[in-house]
Amino acid sequence: MSLINENFLDLQESYLFSTIAKKVEKFTKENPDKKIIKLGIGDVTKPIVPACLEAMHKAVEEIGTKHGFKGYGPEQGYEFLRNVIVENDYQARGIDIDADEIFVSDGAKCDCGNIVDIFAQNNKVAITDPVYPVYLDTNVMSGRAGSFKDETQTYENIVYLPVTAKNDFKPELPKEKVDLIYLCFPNNPTGTVLDKEELKKWVDYAKENQAIILYDAAYEAFITQKDIPHSIYEIEGAKDVAIEFKSYSKTAGFTGVRCAYVVIPKNVNGYTKTGEKVSLNKLWKRRTSTKFNGVSYIVQKAAEATYSEEGKKQIKENINFYLRNAKIIKEGLEQAGFTVYGGVNSPYIWLKVPEGLTSWEFFDKLLEEVNIVGTPGSGFGPSGEGYFRLTAFGTKEDSIEAIERIKKGF
Ligand code: PLP
Repeated sequence: MSLINENFLDLQESYLFSTIAKKVEKFTKENPDKKIIKLGIGDVTKPIVPACLEAMHKAVEEIGTKHGFKGYGPEQGYEFLRNVIVENDYQARGIDIDADEIFVSDGAKCDCGNIVDIFAQNNKVAITDPVYPVYLDTNVMSGRAGSFKDETQTYENIVYLPVTAKNDFKPELPKEKVDLIYLCFPNNPTGTVLDKEELKKWVDYAKENQAIILYDAAYEAFITQKDIPHSIYEIEGAKDVAIEFKSYSKTAGFTGVRCAYVVIPKNVNGYTKTGEKVSLNKLWKRRTSTKFNGVSYIVQKAAEATYSEEGKKQIKENINFYLRNAKIIKEGLEQAGFTVYGGVNSPYIWLKVPEGLTSWEFFDKLLEEVNIVGTPGSGFGPSGEGYFRLTAFGTKEDSIEAIERIKKGF
C-alpha cells in the first residue's frame, strides 16, 4: 500500500483566484456589454525585450551546429551567467559575492519552495502576514506548520508577523525564538519596502538566534527610492545569515521564459542536532545536482543579455512603464479619498478598503459598480483583511480608465 505524505491534507484550498475567476465569469455572463478592467493580475504583460530575443535567437542557431551543440549544462548554471550576476547585481553595489555562491534556476517560486528540503522539520518558521502563499504552503507540505485553526485562520506552529498600517508594514521581531524567517521586499502583496535600518534589525536577530533569513527580492528592480536596499547583502552581517532569491520574471518579463537564481554565501551555516555547523551552500549544491539538470542554455543566454547595455536600457523602459501605471493608480486612488500603500518601489498598490466593508465585499462592489477586478487582501492571510491589491501590470489606458471610473463611482 502506498502511503501518502499526509501533510498535503493539511493544506487549505486556495479559493482566491478561482473564486475571483468565477465571480468575474458570472458577472460577464450577466452583463455582456460591460468592459471589465483587470487590475488583479500578477503577471507582466510587456513582451520580451529585443536584446534578450536576439540572444535567444543566436543561442538557438548555435546549438544547431556541431561545435555549438549543448547537452547537459552545469546544474548550478553556466559560468557566463553567474559571472555577470556577480558583476552587475552584487559587485556594482559594493557587495562581495562569488560565482559559486550563485545557483541559477527556473524560477524563484521553485527556489522558495524547494529550499525547505535542506532544513529540519522542527525548525520554527516565521512568515509575514499577508504573504506570498508559497512560503506557507511549502512548509505545510513538509510538515512544519502543524494543524490549521479555523478561528484564527492560522497554523499552530507558524509564527505570523502581521504587516499592516498599524506597524507601517514593518514586521516586528518575533517574541518567541524562530529559526527560519521569510522576508519579501519590495513586498508582494503590500508593495511596501524596508529600509536598511529596518532590515538590519532582522539580520541582527538572525545572528543572535542562529536563525536564517530567506529573503525574496523578486521585485528588487522596481525600487526607486535611494535608501532602499536592493539586496539583503547590503546589510552588514547578512552574508552570515541570509539566503537571497532573485528572479528575471518581473525584472525582464521572464514569467514564461523562466529563469531566476538563489544566492547562498559560503558563510551561511545551519546546525546539526549536536550543534555542528554545516554549510548551507554545500547542502544546496548537493540537492541541486541531485534533483535538477539546469536551466536551458538558450534561456541562460537570454538572462545574460539582460545585463548588456541595450538589455538594461530596454528593461528599464518596461519597468518604468509599470511604475508609471502604479503612480497613476496610486495618485488617482488618493485623489478619490482612499488610503493607499505601495506603488512607489513596487508594481503593487495596496489600499485600505472603506470602513465597514470586508476585502471581499469591496471586491464585489468594485466589480459590480465600476467593473474593475482586483485581489482581496484577505486572500493573502488574515492580516490582509480590510485591504485590497491592485497591480500596475495592465495597460496605461486601462489604468487611467480604472481610476476615472473609481473617482466617478465612489
Ligand atoms: N516571489 C514572489 C514574491 C512573487 O510574487 C513571485 C511571483 O509572483 C515569485 C517569487 C515567483 O517568481 P518566478 O516567476 O521566478 O517563479
